[in-house]
Amino acid sequence: MAAQQVVPSPHLVTPVTKLSGQPVNRCYQCHKCTAGCPVTAAMDLMPHQVVRYVQLGLEEDLLKSKTIWQCAACRTCISRCPNGIDIAAINDALKQRALARGIQPALPEVAAFHQVFLASAKSKGRVHELGMMIAFKLKTSTYLQDVPLGLKMFRRRKLRLLPEGIKNRQRFRALLQGEKGGQQ
Ligand code: SF4
Ligand code: SF4
Repeated sequence: MAAQQVVPSPHLVTPVTKLSGQPVNRCYQCHKCTAGCPVTAAMDLMPHQVVRYVQLGLEEDLLKSKTIWQCAACRTCISRCPNGIDIAAINDALKQRALARGIQPALPEVAAFHQVFLASAKSKGRVHELGMMIAFKLKTSTYLQDVPLGLKMFRRRKLRLLPEGIKNRQRFRALLQGEKGGQQ
C-alpha cells in the first residue's frame, strides 16, 4: 500500500511552543526520548512522533491520540533530550487544545481525572483530594469503585474533610493568567 502523503503545515508550532514553553523546532528526531520513555507500550504515538507531528501540523492525529493522555509526566524524556525538550509539557498543551475544541478524549477516564484535578487546584491553589475524588466519581459514574481504599485513607487521615488554600494566592492567580494567555 502506498504511504499517505503528508503536506507539512507549521501552524501548530507557534501555539504549542507558546503554551508548553518548549522549543519544538529544535527537535531533530534523534529518538532518545522514545528510547527512554517507560510508557511506550501503551502509546499509539511515540514521544518523538508527538514532536514531529507538531512540526508537521498534524493536529487531528495528535488531539485524538491516546498518547497525550497516557503520558505519565515522568520527564525521563527531558533528561535524555539533547535539546532539553519536555514532551510532558507538550502533551499538556495538546490536552488543553483537545479540551478547548471539545474533542472526545481517547482515554475518557484519564481526561476526567485531569479536569477534576485542575479544577480542584485552581479553586484553592492546592488539590483537595476528597473533593476531587467525589467529582471524579460523579463524572465517570464509578461511585462504589475504590470505596474500601477511600475509607482506609480516611481512617489514616490521608483525606482532609475540608479544602485548604495556599498563602500566596496572588502569585498563583498570575500563573493561571499566564497559562490562559498562552492558549490559542
Ligand atoms: S530526544 Fe529531543 S531532539 Fe531527540 S527526538 Fe526526542 S524531543 Fe527530539
Ligand atoms: S514524560 Fe511522558 S513522554 Fe516523557 S518519558 Fe515520561 S511518559 Fe514518556
